[in-house]
Amino acid sequence: MKISPNTPCLCNSKKKYKHCCKIYHNGAKAKTAEILMRSRFVAFALNLSKYIIKTTHTLNKDYTSNISSWTKDIELFTLNTKFNNLKIIKVINGEKESYITFIAFLEQNDEDISFCEKSRFLKENNEWLYVDGIFIEEGK
Ligand SMILES: [Zn+2]
Repeated sequence: MKISPNTPCLCNSKKKYKHCCKIYHNGAKAKTAEILMRSRFVAFALNLSKYIIKTTHTLNKDYTSNISSWTKDIELFTLNTKFNNLKIIKVINGEKESYITFIAFLEQNDEDISFCEKSRFLKENNEWLYVDGIFIEEGK
C-alpha cells in the first residue's frame, strides 16, 4: 500500500501523514512509546519492513539477524492484510519501559482478524523499541 504525504495518517491521529508518522519513517526518533507504536502500525500498512526491523527489540521472538527472511515474513503479512484502523485504549508511560494497549482493525481475505494487544516497549540508547505483546480481551 502507498499513500500520499497529504493523506490523513493511517494511525488515526487526524493529522496528515507528512506531519505524523512519516517524520519517524524518515528517521526521527519517536519521543514516546505511543508514537513508536502508531508509526509501527502505519509502517506495517505501508510495508516499510526496514522500519519494523529497526524498531524491534532484540528480545522480540521474531528478532533474527537473517534480515532477508525477516523482511519476507513481514512482506507476506503486510501485503496480505488490510490495515483498516487503530485505536489506542490505554497508555502506561515509564521512564524506560512503557505499555500501550490498542486495537488493530485488520482484514485478511475479507475476514476480520482484528485484535487487542498490550504491547511492551523498552527505551534503549534513547530510542523506544517494541519488545513484545500479549493478546487481551477488549476492556480488560
Ligand atoms: Zn500517524
